[in-house]
Amino acid sequence: MLGLYIHVPFCAAICNYCNFNRGVFDADLKARYVDALLTEIDRAGQAGRAGGADTIYFGGGTPSLLEPGEVGAIVAACARAFALGADSEITLEANPETVTRDRLAAFRAEGVTRLSVGVQSFRDDELRRLSRLHTAARARAAVGEARAAGFDNVSIDLMMWLPGQSVADWLASVDDAVSVDPDHLSLYLLEVYPNAPLREEMARARWSQAPDEDAEAMYLTAMERLEAAGYRQYEISNVAKAGRRSRHNLKYWTDGEWLGLGCGAHSTQGGVRWKNVSAPGDYVRRIASRSDIRDEVRSMSADERLGDALFTGLRLTDGIDLAALGGRYGVDLWARYGGELDRYLEAGCLIREGPRLRLTRRGMLLAHEVMAVFV
Ligand code: SF4
Repeated sequence: MLGLYIHVPFCAAICNYCNFNRGVFDADLKARYVDALLTEIDRAGQAGRAGGADTIYFGGGTPSLLEPGEVGAIVAACARAFALGADSEITLEANPETVTRDRLAAFRAEGVTRLSVGVQSFRDDELRRLSRLHTAARARAAVGEARAAGFDNVSIDLMMWLPGQSVADWLASVDDAVSVDPDHLSLYLLEVYPNAPLREEMARARWSQAPDEDAEAMYLTAMERLEAAGYRQYEISNVAKAGRRSRHNLKYWTDGEWLGLGCGAHSTQGGVRWKNVSAPGDYVRRIASRSDIRDEVRSMSADERLGDALFTGLRLTDGIDLAALGGRYGVDLWARYGGELDRYLEAGCLIREGPRLRLTRRGMLLAHEVMAVFV
């Protein structure tokens, strides 16, 4: 079954560290963009790209800036075009300052089943440094409002290795996260891009990120605390309660297929990978004039697909079934990669159990180095 990713490129303000495909909210452009999205979804259905879907993920940007009725119209269009199953997972990313209990109840009534709240930190000083618009109290309230609105599947995003953040500060946010009792958490490491305004602000204010060994401690200790609180890690950056793994994101890590709809969205289907044009205005114009909205299209060789499946599969704590994956691609994987992987097994970064190969938690800190073997 396909996963559907819907990109919503609008934000109330631009955060100083952000390098996503987004711009400042413009009501007129948003209305035209939603119309264009509905058209793209209908056309994808007519073109026979609709093979059945069971997840929708509204990502951004700030998808919770859409009106509930707009989200409902997009969900309905997807249901028509992609024979959406009744138990589909429909996730909406939401920023705490954009929601109220009533608004969340309205999103739920329009079909949203899962909420992913962009909390990032439970400390006001850290949120201010990241130029986020919400406070820790608003983030806590948003999770409570989601529960009151009837959501039984709530995820929160937290970011670690923030400027000026100590290991103790980070763990206090992790403890606060546990106290609001989400079903799922995603933990990301802040990456300060070369041209991010945050980089200059850090230099001016003399904020720095903690040393590498502290970043390791942040990651390892947070995972231990979350496991002690009843969460299970299932991917390098993600933990969940039983039955609450992200079904949509698992498609990215298990050699699945997905369609990205909207500007800048990526798709992978039938061995072809493509990306839509990035600018929302360009996207809207191309949809209106029936021009091709894709600006990068690439057929992947079987070797590339296999490399990707290995690279992404190793992100999961279950790791990769070398026999099953090798069988699918007609390759003896151990014969091909075993020589290079041996040193990581010996170093305790990888474990081989029967047909499965997986990273140890310590190995996850070196994941990029290990995964480079497959690229
Ligand atoms: S809310 Fe998210 S997408 Fe929007 S600017 Fe901030 S980090 Fe970027």
